[in-house]
Amino acid sequence: MGRHRKITSAQTTKGRIALVAATAGTVSTAGIGGAAAATMQNPAEQDAHSYELAADAATIDDATAAEAAPQILNISEFKPASDIQDQLGKAIAFNDERMAADAAARMPQVIKPAEGSFSSGFGARWGTVHNGVDIANALGTPIVAAMDGVVIDAGPASGFGNWVRIKHEDGTITVYGHMSTIDVTVGQPVTAGTKIAGMGSEGFSTGSHLHFEVHPAGSGPIDPQPWLAERGITL
Ligand SMILES: [Zn+2]
Repeated sequence: MGRHRKITSAQTTKGRIALVAATAGTVSTAGIGGAAAATMQNPAEQDAHSYELAADAATIDDATAAEAAPQILNISEFKPASDIQDQLGKAIAFNDERMAADAAARMPQVIKPAEGSFSSGFGARWGTVHNGVDIANALGTPIVAAMDGVVIDAGPASGFGNWVRIKHEDGTITVYGHMSTIDVTVGQPVTAGTKIAGMGSEGFSTGSHLHFEVHPAGSGPIDPQPWLAERGITL
């Protein structure tokens, strides 16, 4: 067993034998047992073996790097840059859909303010302008808040007999008129569907009905019928 003989435990590692041969100029066939035996037989060779083992350690590092290479190649298998635009487009489309869904979820819930028959529409009527819609039903029929909001008026009002006005989060004000009873007070928060009054024929009215107006923020009264229709409610 010569001084220059490489003794390594990693000779079975792929690619090692050729590298060892190139370094030492010979091919070792000794196993780890041989290394131990050599050390024991000739302690003077221990330094030499240590040196060789240190060299082998470097070789092992090389081998480890070589074995790690396939993992690096795996990383390079991600989609090529030409596909990024398509992926971005899909991500943006998904985000748009999600935002639309979020906006729909945030849209205030609107509830039909009263059940009954649609008896009069918005616009010119009897030489004047009818600022809302009329929903006719029996005296005492529940009238509910169309949307979440806060009561800003509740009581007698000229022409309306009694009225309730509710201001909503978006600034819209809804108006309810002619009620026979009122169940809310000024400053009271209400949610969509909260009963606020009982239907009546107070004020300028020819029969039991709800007069309902919608005043968007910064606007006069608008036709409640399409406003309700946009929110899924038909009169
Ligand atoms: Zn009316």
